Amino acid sequence: MLVAVLFSALVVGGMALTTYVVVSDGMSVVAHDSTIRLSASSAQVVKNEATVAARSVSGAGRDSERARLAQRAFIQQLNDVFGAGAVTEGEVALYGEDLRPVWFSAERALLEGPAAAGREQALRTGRTVESTVNDTGALRGLVGPARLGVLVVHVPFMMPDSSKGVLDVTYFPEREEQVIDAIRPPMFTLAISAMFIMVIMMQTSMSWVLKLVDDLRKAADAIDAGRLDVRLPAEGQHEIGDLARSLNALIDRLRRRSESQTRFIADASHELATPVAGIRGYANILRAWGADDPDVRSEAISAIDRESRRMARLCGDLLALVRDERGIVYKSERFDLNARSREVLAHAATRYIAKGIEFQGPDEGQLIMVGDSDRVEDALSILVDNAAKYTPDGGRVRVSTRRKRGTVVIEVEDTGIGIPQEDIVNVFDRFYRSDVSRSKQAGFGLGLPIAKSIVEGAGGSIEVRSTAGLGSVFTITLPRGRL
Ligand code: ADP
Repeated sequence: MLVAVLFSALVVGGMALTTYVVVSDGMSVVAHDSTIRLSASSAQVVKNEATVAARSVSGAGRDSERARLAQRAFIQQLNDVFGAGAVTEGEVALYGEDLRPVWFSAERALLEGPAAAGREQALRTGRTVESTVNDTGALRGLVGPARLGVLVVHVPFMMPDSSKGVLDVTYFPEREEQVIDAIRPPMFTLAISAMFIMVIMMQTSMSWVLKLVDDLRKAADAIDAGRLDVRLPAEGQHEIGDLARSLNALIDRLRRRSESQTRFIADASHELATPVAGIRGYANILRAWGADDPDVRSEAISAIDRESRRMARLCGDLLALVRDERGIVYKSERFDLNARSREVLAHAATRYIAKGIEFQGPDEGQLIMVGDSDRVEDALSILVDNAAKYTPDGGRVRVSTRRKRGTVVIEVEDTGIGIPQEDIVNVFDRFYRSDVSRSKQAGFGLGLPIAKSIVEGAGGSIEVRSTAGLGSVFTITLPRGRL
């Protein structure tokens, strides 16, 4: 509130002050112009009267007598001219050589102070001089009646008795001061009303913004407390609405990530629980009958061995996944993708030798690319292993590679069981296994997520086409790198 009041007072007060100064300055200029005009016409009248008076007594009596008469006639004429209201906006005063007033149209025309100095200067130099009396500055009218100051023009001239004289023409800027006085009350009323409206507007908009900040704080507190179901009000097409929408999207992302982490931990524990339960079961069997029955003993030992290997495999997979998620830095080296692919196929061929699968590699020749050869090989091994795993005996697994603009494309094709259409969207999810494969193969559903995270980490993409019962094609596209 205080900020709003201060700000409004500053803005509105500044504007009102500027308006006032401009008006009062304008009025000073008008007053000055009027003074100059008045002095010019008055001086002309006085000089004419002096000439007329001098002429009217010429030829009569002695010189001094003539001068006295002329002077008297001149004063008389001045009385007639100015007394009849010839000059209404100002006053005129006539000073003799001794700087004493000889004649004046009104008492207030007799000004001292700066005017006396100006008069003296005019008489001495014989030039017209201007002086200002009672100038109180432009801002005085803000707090009381305006005082623009009185401008006096001192015009030196020759009297009819041949002595020197100075004519003071004074303009009283009463009309201009009235204008300034007249604008003050409405200006204050307007300024105060504008300030009032501004304070209300600022207070309204600030409380709106502050409410949003408070909402944000509450949302942050809720997130801190582990609640990710909060939502900020995101109405309106403005920056604040945009901010609320961005934050809502952020909260959504955090919620999805937290849900997926929870799901991941639950799935991983579940997967680990199965071999552990198996091991414990066989350990119990060993304890109960192992000492007496050698067949039971050897069966239990090999089962424990199988289950512990399974656990070790799962732990390895989980580690691989976590390692990929930590955003490992990929090496950047030149390598022959075709040679690597052939190595992967050779390994798979030894592992699945019993299935009699035909493994076909990329054509002879090289395909040089730049990247992390080990990571590429890891991803390719997962796809080739899956292809062999889900392909019936005597089937075929083929890896082909090609260049396509700035990328390399690796295809792993098999003549296996294929993936049902409804499962295709899920096969890259962690722990996802299609029902068809689940029963026969003992995978964890982590291979494809690992492959995907490797490929995407290297700036590539992975996709699958498959027809249930006919086979699948997994396609990896990787940037070829700067060779
Ligand atoms: P898994 O360890 O179960 O193989 P993956 O993540 O590698 O885990 O694969 C997930 C699921 O995708 C598999 O359970 C399987 O149903 C399906 N799948 C993957 N590759 C193939 C393939 N070449 N042919 C048929 N199904 C496949």
